[in-house]
Formats: sequence, C-alpha cells, structure tokens
Amino acid sequence: MKYAMVTGGSRGIGRAVCVKLAQMGYNVVINYVSNDAEAEKTLAMVREAGTDGEFLKFDVCDYEATVKAIEGWQAAHKGEFIEVLVNNAGVRRDNLMIWMEHEDWLKVINTSLGAFYNVTKPLLQPMLRKKFGRIINMGSLSGLKGLPGQCNYSSAKGGLIAATKALAQEIGAKNVTVNAIAPGFINTDMVEGLNVDALKETIPLKRFGEPEEVAALVGFLASRDAGYITGECISINGGLYS
Ligand code: NDP
Repeated sequence: MKYAMVTGGSRGIGRAVCVKLAQMGYNVVINYVSNDAEAEKTLAMVREAGTDGEFLKFDVCDYEATVKAIEGWQAAHKGEFIEVLVNNAGVRRDNLMIWMEHEDWLKVINTSLGAFYNVTKPLLQPMLRKKFGRIINMGSLSGLKGLPGQCNYSSAKGGLIAATKALAQEIGAKNVTVNAIAPGFINTDMVEGLNVDALKETIPLKRFGEPEEVAALVGFLASRDAGYITGECISINGGLYS
C-alpha cells in the first residue's frame, strides 16, 4: 500500500490533489480542520478514483495536535509510511499592513509556514529511513512577487518557498525531493470576493486556473518521473508572472 497525505484536502486545490494521487494509486490521508461535509465529498471522489482514503482531522497550526494525529496514524500503520506529503492547507486574511491585526498576521503565517514545520517534521524520519519521499509545498505567486494587502500571506508563502529550498539540500542524499508550487489565481473558495473580471484581464491566458491543473503538476512532482527535480518552485499562473 502506498500512502500520501494532503493537508487541506477537503476543498479546492487540496481536493483535486487527493483525487489525482488516488488516480496514481495512492491511499490518501485527507487532512482538514472543520468542514466535514466537504471532506466527505473528497473521500467519495478518492474512492471513485479507485483507491481508498481516510480522514486525519487536525489543525495544522497546532503543533501538539498535529504530532499526536500523525503519531496515531503511524502507530496504526506499523511498517508503512507516508511517502508523499502535500503541504497544501492555507488561508487568506488580507489587509493593508497599516490595518492588519496581529491575529491575522499570525494566523496566515502559522497556517502555511508554521504548518510546514508541524506536519513535515514527524513525517520526515520514515521517508529518510526508507530512502524515498516526495514533499510538495503549496506556495503562491504572492510569495514570489509580493502582493499589496498580503504582507502576511506573501511572507508565509515566501518563507515556505525558502524552506523548500533549504530542506531539499538537507535531505537530497536520502532520495527525498522537496519542491514548491506557486499558483496564480485558481478557481476555489479562496478567490471569492475578488474582482474576477478585472483580474482576468491582467492574465495572459485571460482566465483563472482550475484546481485540477494545479493537481496535475503535483502529480508530476510526486511521480517517479520527477526524481531529479528538487529545491524548485514551479509557477502555474497563466503567464501572470515569471
Ligand atoms: P480553499 O480555501 O479552497 O481550501 C483551504 C483548505 O485548507 C481547506 O481544505 C481547509 O479545511 C484547509 N485548512 C485551512 N486551515 C486549516 C488548518 N488550520 N488546518 C488544516 N486544514 C486547514 O483554498 P485553496 O484550495 O484555494 O488553496 C489551497 C492552497 O493553495 C493554499 O495553501 C493556498 O494558499 C494556495 N493557493 C491558492 C490560490 C488560489 O488562487 N486559490 C493561489 C495560490 C496559492 P476546511 O475545509 O476544513 O476549512
């Protein structure tokens, strides 16, 4: 049995990634924090894709809860390991810096960057021992370019991309690759409330991306074919920024 874990797998990009990995033959460990109904839909789609899945519900911002959940999974799956980790959970709390609440600063940093530590750390040792692993971190265009109103989000994603590059160098010798993806605007709940028509005009491909298009890239980075790619951040943004 091959296992993959996707954080924030209940909706949006995470859901499409769960389905993609299921199509590739992975049993998918679906993490999310609150939305049980949407998580159920993801699990049904994973099963339709031909494998199985299970929930591991925890708040990726909470180090103790994360370690407890992952150690519980490991204890229940002796001799098996999660060989693909997709650090995908993320939130937006946009505001100009001058008005940004401290709570919104911390929430966004903890959900992307703090979670990278919380989730990756307990899953790393089995990958190193088995000498195989794929870690894929969901960055953002915002983490490469910086976007106004997103000092928190740009910092979180920029930090995540830097951590990707650092970790890749630490563990490459153990055949574990670490890469990041930097999506532009993708049609999910996260882009609700944005001025879609105006934004589309700024994108060379004149449309937002679909979660499945991001999932296809995750699938490639998780595959054996991507074995010589590590420490990279790959943009998928319709030509918006390169
Ligand atoms: P959505 O808002 O559609 O989904 C977010 C997911 O993250 C949900 O599954 C949610 O779970 C989960 N989540 C949020 N907070 C936590 C937490 N504390 N612990 C565990 N799970 C959590 O987002 P997208 O699919 O759009 O985004 C996925 C990733 O892609 C994010 O990292 C985002 O920053 C990044 N991204 C998205 C872009 C876009 O345009 N959509 C562009 C660039 C990057 P629940 O359902 O339980 O709330």
